[in-house]
Amino acid sequence: MAMQVAVLGATGSIGTSTLDVVARHPGRLRASVLAAGSNVDALLDLCRRFEPLHAAIADEAGYPALRDGLRAAGLATRAHAGAAAIEQLAAGEDCDTVVAAIVGAAGLASTLAAARAGKRLLLANKESLVLAGELLMHAAREGGALVVPVDSEHNAIFQCLGCNPDGTPATAGLARIQLTASGGPFRGRSREELADVTPAQAVAHPKWSMGPKISVDSATLMNKGLEVIEAHHLFGMPGERIGVLVHPQSLVHSLVEFTDGSTLAQLGLPDMRTALAVGLGWPERIRSGVGGLDLLQHGRLDFERPDLDAFPCLRLAFEALEAGGTAPAVLNAANEVAVSCFLQGRTGFLDIPALVEDCLQALPAAPADSLETLLDADARARAHASDRIARARP
Ligand code: NAD
Ligand code: MG
Repeated sequence: MAMQVAVLGATGSIGTSTLDVVARHPGRLRASVLAAGSNVDALLDLCRRFEPLHAAIADEAGYPALRDGLRAAGLATRAHAGAAAIEQLAAGEDCDTVVAAIVGAAGLASTLAAARAGKRLLLANKESLVLAGELLMHAAREGGALVVPVDSEHNAIFQCLGCNPDGTPATAGLARIQLTASGGPFRGRSREELADVTPAQAVAHPKWSMGPKISVDSATLMNKGLEVIEAHHLFGMPGERIGVLVHPQSLVHSLVEFTDGSTLAQLGLPDMRTALAVGLGWPERIRSGVGGLDLLQHGRLDFERPDLDAFPCLRLAFEALEAGGTAPAVLNAANEVAVSCFLQGRTGFLDIPALVEDCLQALPAAPADSLETLLDADARARAHASDRIARARP
């Protein structure tokens, strides 16, 4: 019987890539649950194509249009609305695999639900790990969930390490992780040269095609900072054993170094369908639609040190990981607010690290003993960042 796949964030960049891979394996994979934020028309298009058992829209105002659209299309797909419905579907019996591809902390509840329910969890939503990594990894262990990171760097590491019999990454003998970073659209610029960059310039990523939020994160290097924290939780590595290498060609997706001096890397074209196919097929290899790598055509692989002066977000993320407790939750929430305001033209590019740093100082790290504590830190950081922005530009 086909593996039943829930795609949360189905209309986004990762969701679309997932469905592209699913469509290549009709006997093996079935999109049984599709969920999206607010774009009912895009969700209905996907429903007509994939005929899932369930379709859910987070924005409750979209429910009538979703229900009526499904009926008009003659589909048996059941309509749902609201975050709680998505959470229930993620944990429910109509999926074996959950692709967590909602953007931001909004993805935490459904990701946690899938982990607790022991689903195969293809984790793209890195913000949930940054916000509540310990709780999420604990929930996955308790629930017996196989977590396959689909962030390309972490998927590379997952492939290099392989799994223990219980499905956890085989980290024995692992000395160090090196995450590669493309450097984003502004690689090589000084801090001064970043002051006037526009949202359109920031989302024009040189190597990857992605949603707007992660594209801005790539331009500030906050994406790499979030990924350092993500790697810490997924592979149990302390921050000082996680390095970052700028690699503009984006062909080496990350490296692992073992205690014997051996380094393994995973290479491939920059296309998320490879990582998604690894997760959907694991431990088997299945077709993804991505071609092989012609190194002669590419010719060279370059590596540089990241510029923490021009891109302080990466430094702030290392500091938040070191501080621990609620600090990563504050970092993530402040960043989400700052990026959203930047995309709306309400703040400048350099305000993003400034706001994050301001929030980390105003809300010092406290022990993160429960989900409530973390969600409270998230809410307070959002309020603080919004207040700062409102005061700066009334
Ligand atoms: P995107 O903006 O293209 O898509 C986001 C999806 O989430 C959309 O389907 C949207 O409808 C849905 N969504 C938004 N808010 C929601 C809510 N409150 N409830 C339910 N659904 C909601 O983003 P993306 O680029 O696909 O990124 C998704 C996640 O994957 C992010 O966490 C990102 O960091 C991570 N990721 C993306 C890439 C990539 O190549 N795009 C690579 C690595 C990791
Ligand atoms: Mg990545």
